[in-house]
Amino acid sequence: MSNERSRRTGRLGAGIYLDCQASTPVDPRVVEAMALYWTDYCGNPHSTEHAFGWVADEAIEAARIQVAAAVGADADEIVFTSGATEANNMAVLGGARAAPQGRNKIVVTAIEHKSVLAAARALVEEGFELTVVPVGHDGILDPERLASVVDGRTALVSVMAVNNEIGTIQPIAGIAATCRAAGAAFHVDAAQALAFLPIDVAEIGVDLMSLSSHKAYGPKGVGALYVRRGLTPRPRPITFGGGQEGGLRPGTLPVPLCVGFGTTCQILGSERERDVVVSSSLRDMLLKSIQNRLPDVRVNGTLSDRHPGNLNLLIPGVEADLLLNALQPEIAASSGSACSSGIQEPSHVLRAIGLTQIEAMSSVRFGIGRFTTVEQTNLAAELICSEAISLRLAATRSTQLAASALSL
Ligand code: PMP
Repeated sequence: MSNERSRRTGRLGAGIYLDCQASTPVDPRVVEAMALYWTDYCGNPHSTEHAFGWVADEAIEAARIQVAAAVGADADEIVFTSGATEANNMAVLGGARAAPQGRNKIVVTAIEHKSVLAAARALVEEGFELTVVPVGHDGILDPERLASVVDGRTALVSVMAVNNEIGTIQPIAGIAATCRAAGAAFHVDAAQALAFLPIDVAEIGVDLMSLSSHKAYGPKGVGALYVRRGLTPRPRPITFGGGQEGGLRPGTLPVPLCVGFGTTCQILGSERERDVVVSSSLRDMLLKSIQNRLPDVRVNGTLSDRHPGNLNLLIPGVEADLLLNALQPEIAASSGSACSSGIQEPSHVLRAIGLTQIEAMSSVRFGIGRFTTVEQTNLAAELICSEAISLRLAATRSTQLAASALSL
C-alpha cells in the first residue's frame, strides 16, 4: 500500500460508509452466530463418520432452510455457492447448455451485472445467439420489448431484479409469464434485491435465482442459486468434483459462511420492512440536502421503482473519481465507472440509460444501509457538497489559466 493510502486508511474508523451496494457491513448478530463454526465446530459437513461432521452438516441444513424461507423456496431447491457471480455463471452457462436442441437463443438486458453479460457472451462462442435488450432512460425494462424477442427457440432469459448501480427494480413477474408461455428458462439475478424486496419464487414463477449474502448484511464469499424443483432439464454443472450440492456445485461448503448467510436471511424476515423505511428516508434526506446546495445535481434512473438505499447522482462539472478521492477517508461511495483490466471505463449501465461518457464519469453512487445514521447522512451531504464545489472552482480556474496561456 502506498504511503498516501496507508496514511488515509489509518483513520478509517471514523469514516462514513455509503457503499452498501458494493458490500454491506455484517450484522453483529450474524457474526455471533458464525463464531463457533470457525473454531469448535470445525468439521467438514461432508464427513459422515464422526460427530463433528454431523454438527457441521446440521448447521448447513438449518441455514439452507433459512435461505429458502427468505425467497419462498424449499430447502432442497437451494444450492450454496461462493456468491452471486458463481450463481449467475451456473445459471447462464449451465442453464443454456442444458437446453434441448433447437433452443439456442439467450436473452439478457443491457444493464445486467458483468457476471451475467460475460457468461452470456461466452455462450456465443459455443454457437448460442445472444440478444441484449435495451432499457429505457429511467433504467426500467419494457416487458413488451422483451416479449418481442422471446420465442420457441429461446433457451434462457436472464433479468436482474434490482440493478446494482442505479437501483432500478425490473418487472420480473411479467417477464416470468412471458418465459413460461415460450417454454424458456427464466433466471433472475436477485443479488441486490434480497436485502429489501421480498421475492416469492413460487408465486412469481422463477426457474433459477442468484443470491448473495454480502449485499444483505451477511458475510462475503457465500451465496446461493435457487433451482426450481420441477425445472427440466436441470442446469448442467460448470465445475466437477465430489458431487456435493446435488452434483451441481461440488466442493466443501464453508460452514461458518453458510451459517452466517442463513442468519442473515432469518434477520431479514423481521427487519426488512424497517430497513426499507429507514434507508429510504435517509436516502431522500441526502438527496434533498445535496440538491439544496447543488440544484443542478440529477438522479440517474427513476426514483419511483428503486432500491430504497440507492442514490446514483450526476454531478455536472465534477469528475467522480476526483470527488471520491477528495472524500477519503471520510466517505466511501463509488463512481459511475468501472476498472476493467486497469483501464477506467464509463459504466455500461449509465451508458445504457443514455448518459454521455462525460456524464457517466461525473456520476457517483451512494449506498445507504441498515447501520447508516441521520448524523452521518447530514455530515456526508455537507462534505460531498463542499468538495464538489471546490472541484468545480478548481476546474474553472484551470480552464481560465489554459485560455489565458493560449492568448499570450
Ligand atoms: N449481481 C449483482 C446485481 C451484483 O450487484 C453483484 C455484486 N456486485 C453480483 C451479481 C456479484 O455478487 P458476488 O459479489 O456475490 O459475487
